[in-house]
Amino acid sequence: MLPGSFVERQRTCGRPNCHCADGKRLHSQFQISVLVDGKPTALSIPAKLVETVRQKIEMRRLIGVAAATICRLNLKRFLQEKETR
Ligand SMILES: [Zn+2]
Repeated sequence: MLPGSFVERQRTCGRPNCHCADGKRLHSQFQISVLVDGKPTALSIPAKLVETVRQKIEMRRLIGVAAATICRLNLKRFLQEKETR
């Protein structure tokens, strides 16, 4: 798992004869947007790690969703038990 969110940015590389110079076919750059020591930080992801990082961030997100669902159900259960005693 990895914290933060997965961000895709489009950018030009600055080379005048690159295909991105027309401003339409830009380069994709992938980043992790995450708090490091409490500060919002954007970390660029090397191309070979993009898929792994994407999956690890998604895993963290899904576990967060699952934990929130469990908490909601348990709170409901707690409130019901509290009333019936
Ligand atoms: Zn370019």
